[in-house]
Amino acid sequence: MSSNRRESSYPMVTFEEAYRMINAQLTPLPAEQVPAFTAEGRIVAEDINATEAMPDIPKAMVDGYALRAGDGTAARRVLSELTAGGSTPGPLTEGTAARIMTGAPVPAGADALVMFEHAREQEGMLQIERVPQVGDNIRNIGQDAAIGELILAQGSVLSAAEVGLLAMIGRTSVPVYRRPKVAVISTGDEVVEPDAPRPIGAVRDSNRYALLAAVREAGCAAISLGIAPDAWDTQRELLLRGFAEADVVLTSGGVSLGTRDLVKPLLAELGTVHFGRVLLKPGKPTTFATVQGKCAFGLPGNPASSLVMFEVFVRPALRRLQGDLHPERPTVQVVLGETIRPAQDRPECQRVLIAWRNGRLVAQTTGVQTSTRLLSMRSANGLLLVPPGTTPYQPGDTLPALLTGAIRE
Ligand code: AMP
Ligand code: MG
Repeated sequence: MSSNRRESSYPMVTFEEAYRMINAQLTPLPAEQVPAFTAEGRIVAEDINATEAMPDIPKAMVDGYALRAGDGTAARRVLSELTAGGSTPGPLTEGTAARIMTGAPVPAGADALVMFEHAREQEGMLQIERVPQVGDNIRNIGQDAAIGELILAQGSVLSAAEVGLLAMIGRTSVPVYRRPKVAVISTGDEVVEPDAPRPIGAVRDSNRYALLAAVREAGCAAISLGIAPDAWDTQRELLLRGFAEADVVLTSGGVSLGTRDLVKPLLAELGTVHFGRVLLKPGKPTTFATVQGKCAFGLPGNPASSLVMFEVFVRPALRRLQGDLHPERPTVQVVLGETIRPAQDRPECQRVLIAWRNGRLVAQTTGVQTSTRLLSMRSANGLLLVPPGTTPYQPGDTLPALLTGAIRE
């Protein structure tokens, strides 16, 4: 029996299946050497080990006196003054001490340091309050980093401390995974540049700018390829440009069942579509393809859908391409601050604001969750993973959520 109902020929896949299909296509990009001291945000491509001990000689941890613990509390003669950066001092003999400043080399023979606060020096003689213990206030060889100690593990993200560690061990360049280049294309005859005159009914291109920002926030280089009208040849040309210039291509719009939705058939013509429908709200028509060995995500046109799908599928993929050992956002259990209505037919990612309330993470909705409403994404730091059903979840119930941003309050 023939039917007029337009139905996708792509089988519906679950979120987990979609995720696995994407991961199967991903391997980290090759490594490159970059200057170490501006490499924050990049991901280390090799283990980096210390080749020297830090410190390389025993050093003073306080300002005070270096002495021999075995001399007990007996008075000692102060023979010299040692400062950081000074030459290696001669050995300290029994019954003597040296004035010493933080960071100065500890002389041979000295096995403890007493702080100025716990000592009194008069006419070259030192009196201390308590019996010192061997090792007091001395930073031993290799205490901060031993020879061969792992300084940065492959897959770790460089941040301030890691840049400092590279400087500490004298590394001026660092092997990191290449940053993915990600091209973003908007589609739609009705879509116009935000600064262009807007004919009645036309829609400003919020998706491309939101996605370009999300791409950069995910540590990638963003390439804007503009807006393609709903015409086969123009879209095909822009897609091919994307695959030539970028490692990943993102499109928005044109993946539904409308007669002018061309992205799925175009990707199928150019390469392989791995899935074209996901059992998820929003984002059901999300499409994933590979073309010329590169990944393409056909994201829905509705602004909230495209950004939610970016979070759920694209961002982890971009982090994986950069070799991130933890490409996924953390999942946290949150307590509902209000009633949450599930979708009947499929899991839903609801945008929420997660905050600490009386020692618990509590999720508050960002308001009406329609996929057209970009305001539902504003300030959201979580995607509540709501299983399908008919019974509303009540305040106080617990559900998992992807933590997509910092907890700010
Ligand atoms: P489509 O998936 O192409 O049918 O688009 C679904 C809805 O999203 C339509 O109402 C579009 O006008 C809207 N839309 C598509 N592309 C964009 C865009 N780049 N920025 C904002 N809204 C868009
Ligand atoms: Mg469209």
